[in-house]
Amino acid sequence: MSATRFQRIMLKVGGESLMGDREYGIDPQAAAMVAEQIKQVYIKHVQVALVMGGGNIFRGVAGSKNGIERATADYMGMLATVMNALALQDALEKAGVPSRVQSALQMPAVAESFIRRKAIRHMEKGRVILLAAGTGVPYVTTDTGASLHALELKCDVLMKATKVDGIYDQDPQKFPNARRYKTLTFNDAIQNKDIDVMDTAALAMAKENNMPVMVFELFKENNLQKAVDGENIGTYVSNDVETVFAE
Ligand code: UDP
Repeated sequence: MSATRFQRIMLKVGGESLMGDREYGIDPQAAAMVAEQIKQVYIKHVQVALVMGGGNIFRGVAGSKNGIERATADYMGMLATVMNALALQDALEKAGVPSRVQSALQMPAVAESFIRRKAIRHMEKGRVILLAAGTGVPYVTTDTGASLHALELKCDVLMKATKVDGIYDQDPQKFPNARRYKTLTFNDAIQNKDIDVMDTAALAMAKENNMPVMVFELFKENNLQKAVDGENIGTYVSNDVETVFAE
């Protein structure tokens, strides 16, 4: 048993986290940094399930704008998440962290198929479980996959790792006066049109099932560890808090 605030986490890692300073694709150094953060909590016996995004390689919406049928483009996006999951598995292996990739689309030569009980067993045995291909169906994103999988795997929290250090009232890259929320109610997160952090479907599922969501920056040293320890980094979204700005 670990002494951390959360014992089993769902970590949603956007594809862009593996991009480093590149404009596209996978930077092994960035993957190694993500693996190091995971290692810090793995050492503390935190059970980690991770849903990998694919936006650094392909997004269905972008593909369909370029003329590919939406469903086909979405399947291509799902395949991108499998590539990312394999890259992260490689980085985890190099960091000495055991892991398994499970894919929602069957591809037995490279990944196990997603089987809920098996995924739980892997985590209980101390293996990080990397979930690829999102939900396995088109017209949604990996945020929804992360929310769904987090619920069925009984994770204590859904942690969305991003390049920004939390949820802001306006886009902080466009508005220098944007303010970060320390805590946020699900209702505000869903209803406030200026808040764009995650799919509404993903948030609605988390809200209905009372699973807190945390948004934080992954590329700050020790941040994942701080997040699982319950430190005040990023933004915490829940039914049990009030909407409050960070100092
Ligand atoms: N995707 C999908 N169904 C899913 C998950 C993902 O169709 O359950 C497709 C969708 O086209 C999406 C792409 O895979 O754009 C890559 O995932 P996402 O955009 O969520 O990646 P991220 O933004 O997290 O890097």
